[in-house]
Amino acid sequence: MGMEKGNLSIHSENIFPIIKKWLYSDHDIFIRELISNACDAITKLKKLNSMGEVELEEGTDYRVDVMVNDKEKTLKFIDNGIGMTEDEIKQYINQIAFSGAEDFLNKYKDKTNDEQIIGHFGLGFYSAFMVSDKVVIDTLSYNEGSEPVHWECEGGTEFTMDKGDRSERGTTITLYISEDSKDFLNEWTVRSTIEKYCSFMPVNIFLTNENEEKEEEVKDQNEQAKTEDTETEVEIKEPKPLNETSPLYLKSPNQCTDEEYKEFYRKTFMDFKEPLFWIHLNMDYPFNLKGILYFPKLNNEFETAEGRIKLYNNQVYVADNIKEVIPEFLLLLKGVIDCPDLPLNVSRSFLQNDGFVKKISGYITKKVADKLKSLHNKEKESYEKFWDDINPFIKYGCLKEDKFYDKVKDIILYKTINGGYTTINEYLERNKDKHENKVYYVTDETQQAQYIKLFKDHDMEAVILKSSIDQPFISHIEMKNTETKFARIDADLTDTLKDQDDASEEDNKQMLESLEKSFKAALNNDNLKVQVENLKSKEVAGMILLSEQSRRMQEMSKMYGMMGMAPNMGNDETLVLNKSNKLVQYILDNQESEDKKEDIQLFCEQIYDLALLSHKPLQPEAMTKFIQRNNEILARLI
Ligand code: ADP
Repeated sequence: MGMEKGNLSIHSENIFPIIKKWLYSDHDIFIRELISNACDAITKLKKLNSMGEVELEEGTDYRVDVMVNDKEKTLKFIDNGIGMTEDEIKQYINQIAFSGAEDFLNKYKDKTNDEQIIGHFGLGFYSAFMVSDKVVIDTLSYNEGSEPVHWECEGGTEFTMDKGDRSERGTTITLYISEDSKDFLNEWTVRSTIEKYCSFMPVNIFLTNENEEKEEEVKDQNEQAKTEDTETEVEIKEPKPLNETSPLYLKSPNQCTDEEYKEFYRKTFMDFKEPLFWIHLNMDYPFNLKGILYFPKLNNEFETAEGRIKLYNNQVYVADNIKEVIPEFLLLLKGVIDCPDLPLNVSRSFLQNDGFVKKISGYITKKVADKLKSLHNKEKESYEKFWDDINPFIKYGCLKEDKFYDKVKDIILYKTINGGYTTINEYLERNKDKHENKVYYVTDETQQAQYIKLFKDHDMEAVILKSSIDQPFISHIEMKNTETKFARIDADLTDTLKDQDDASEEDNKQMLESLEKSFKAALNNDNLKVQVENLKSKEVAGMILLSEQSRRMQEMSKMYGMMGMAPNMGNDETLVLNKSNKLVQYILDNQESEDKKEDIQLFCEQIYDLALLSHKPLQPEAMTKFIQRNNEILARLI
């Protein structure tokens, strides 16, 4: 073959600067593209072999080698795949790719916003020019009698093609890395990029630093060390591929062991906490999708789940957390999903509107719901054990996706103050005689301990809802089931807590007025709301109630920082006084007596603070007074 010179078939003279600019945000992608091409070249060869089109030597070690050389400023990608003939280079490299690039530019030339491009597809081979001053191909086709070809291009529209000197089948792509991309001459950068994009590619990938001591030399050193009879043997490391060529998710679920699933999780996410459980997705029809989703264990209840779903296309990594494909709430999980049918060379806005992509997302949601249901139905104990970890995720899913909510609404558990778990239907059924359609809940077991005790004493039940997602979640349930209402345990008094009251209405009214007078005066608060009840628990003198609605309003305005806009919101609490309590009786009986005045002042203040204390933390000033008063009471007891 003689020396040939020619022009690349392209109309735009300035394609390289444009390629550089367009793909700049993701310029490490060229590594993925060149390694995918190398793997493809090997896969093609294997296929030809299995079809009998080519006869290969037994036991061929198929591999892709990446070599960094920071002295020569080159990065090489070497494969022993199918190779290319001169004609193939003409066809595949000189023409097609550029017209592909042109198509690409035509398609996107009006879009100025980089965000619109999914940003994770490359221009195949030509992405190499994003980081190189010059790219060289040395290749020898598998075809018998083929001649090696050498191709060079310096990023203009000109290339040269000549007879090469490669003697073994396969292809070497050599990149002469440009000054502004010299980070890719750093072994660590290259390694982590390969690990990011290529960890499940189907052919072994090896990385070598050409300037590091050669293995041979290390061996020699070993030999020398031995003859010198020292014990400092230099360890020889067998080179290990950077990737796992048949990742677990490709296997059939019934061939995978728990240990394998855990191992895959550890390796893929570098998370050494064991996952709680997992879902192996394996679907061939109507689309191809494989993957494993893990439910991670949270460290503590305050840790926000930080999930990560890696998306692959035919074992080639595409991106993390593409929410067009994976329902957003599932992004709290950790997992890998490989979907070869995914149309990835398109913009995100296309993905959003694509019916196929929506089907994928729907399928994944359904699978997750099915798994949760089967756990709930078949392994109740484990499900309850996992509940604390998985509940924020499920609740978030319910808020985000109606379809998911419909599927899991009956398996949402509530921990009760008695230590067990219940579903909302079970709870409502059990308590329908005591408080129809109402679900009482606790948000802070310590703070609300007094109310909890009261509930327990009277055989009542409340559920514990203490994570930050619970408030929006219960509002959601109330919206879905307009009959059901949630009330915090200190929101109102159920009849179950009250004793029969034989006093006349008139008597009760008088009692209220006089107690109100004493408390308002003692607490120096004219706005104080007082209510008198006949509670079964005689030892309770007073309690604070704050209606559910007012409290939710308060919390919401606090959250949105609107407290200043609604100054009266803090005053909605009601002090409930128990007329069967001795102290309250005492106040009533001695209200008029001048020499009991001091006592009454003390009792009113103390009853109020005790009630407040079991409702919310005292303000610093109130706390100081409360402690002083307690000391005073103790002193009086001497
Ligand atoms: P794509 O891989 O999307 O087809 P590329 O621009 O990456 O586009 O490559 C164009 C073509 O060049 C490939 O389809 C393949 O036929 C050929 N090619 C690229 N790299 C290699 C390689 N390492 N070995 C053999 N053929 C290759």
